[in-house]
Amino acid sequence: MNHRETAQALKKAMEFYGGLGFRYLPISEKKVSELLMNTAADDAPVDSGTEETIVSAADKDRALQELREEIGDCQRCKLCRGRTNIVFGEGSSHARLMFIGEGPGRDEDLQARPFVGEAGKLLTRLIEKMGMKREEVYIANIVKCRPPNNRDPEEDEISSCRPFVERQAQIISPDVIMSLGRVSAQSILGMNMPIGKLRGNFFSFNDIPLMPTYHPAYLLRNPKDKWLVWADAQKALSKLKNRG
Ligand code: URA
Repeated sequence: MNHRETAQALKKAMEFYGGLGFRYLPISEKKVSELLMNTAADDAPVDSGTEETIVSAADKDRALQELREEIGDCQRCKLCRGRTNIVFGEGSSHARLMFIGEGPGRDEDLQARPFVGEAGKLLTRLIEKMGMKREEVYIANIVKCRPPNNRDPEEDEISSCRPFVERQAQIISPDVIMSLGRVSAQSILGMNMPIGKLRGNFFSFNDIPLMPTYHPAYLLRNPKDKWLVWADAQKALSKLKNRG
């Protein structure tokens, strides 16, 4: 198959699955690019291949936007009473790396953006040390509203909100997720193991490799453990390389 035929076959498949109600092809953008790259040599430059990738990114943006609209002015749990803003999440809809924290703090609640306080600055530094820009990854939380006085989110709050972070991960479909802190890892995995035991090991979140690590707020209090997070980040980077 040459480049043009591959692009046409993909387009047909998209139309077919679209007719059945699917909104995405069960194939990653990376695979699409590989297919197109492997077949490109024998053909003139074809725009449609690039177009499919762009459409797919636009679809993801739209799907995230729709999810945000579905959340609306959420009153599904008691956290709605104390919040200023819902903190949906931010970053690239086609990120290869996603971070999942616990829940917004004071700064995040005020700015409606995840990880913008002191812990957020440390997270941004980690992302940059990993060779990426903050805008290239996606950052979300388990709960989207600030728990009062920064207490841990409770069971009922987590279960009301968890479907949304699951949908975010499903839409973005990153190659690797890093969960930040005990609450995030335990609620994603449904396990009560201490974060010190979970971190450093890969798990799966709906078939996406998940690397739990310490929360940046923990590192602010325990800077001597930064190297452990760096070790976890390096494992995440190797996984990204293997899947890239
Ligand atoms: N801590 C979190 O877990 N999430 C944020 O967005 C900010 C601080």
